[in-house]
Amino acid sequence: MSDLCPCGSGLVYAACCQPLHLGQPAATPEALMRSRYSAFVREDTAYLLASWDDSTRPPTLELAPATQWLGLQIVHSQATGDDGEVEFVARFREGDEWFRLDEISGFRRGADGYWRYLDGNARFDRLRPGRNDDCPCNSGRKFKKCCG
Ligand SMILES: [Zn+2]
Ligand SMILES: [Zn+2]
Repeated sequence: MSDLCPCGSGLVYAACCQPLHLGQPAATPEALMRSRYSAFVREDTAYLLASWDDSTRPPTLELAPATQWLGLQIVHSQATGDDGEVEFVARFREGDEWFRLDEISGFRRGADGYWRYLDGNARFDRLRPGRNDDCPCNSGRKFKKCCG
C-alpha cells in the first residue's frame, strides 16, 4: 500500500488525513470532508461517527463490505463562521457496477472547535464506461485495457 493519502491530495497520509484520524481538529470543512473520505476508504467507522454532528449522527454505521472507493474530487468548498459546505464527486465500485456520487455536504463547527459532518444531498449515478473510455478507477488507461 502506498503512503499517499487515500483522499487524493497528493500528500502522504501522515501529513494529510492521519492527524485528523488521530484526533486533531480539521482546519476547514474541506479538510474534514477529505478525512471522512479517507476514513471510508480505510473503513474507519469510529472516525466517521466521531466526525458526525450530534444532531444527525446515526447510532451505528454499517459499511458495505464490497465497496471499493476510486477517488475524490472537491468541486467547491466554503466556510462562513461555524457553517461549512463542500461540494464533491466521488467514484466507487461495487462488484461489476460503477457509481458516481455527487453530493453537497453541510458541516458545522462545534463549541469545541471541531468541524463535523451535518448532512448532505447525495445523488448516485450508475456509470457505464465504454470500452474506449478512460477507466473509472483513475488509472489513466482505457477501460478495456484495465478493469473492463
Ligand atoms: Zn488526505
Ligand atoms: Zn481500471
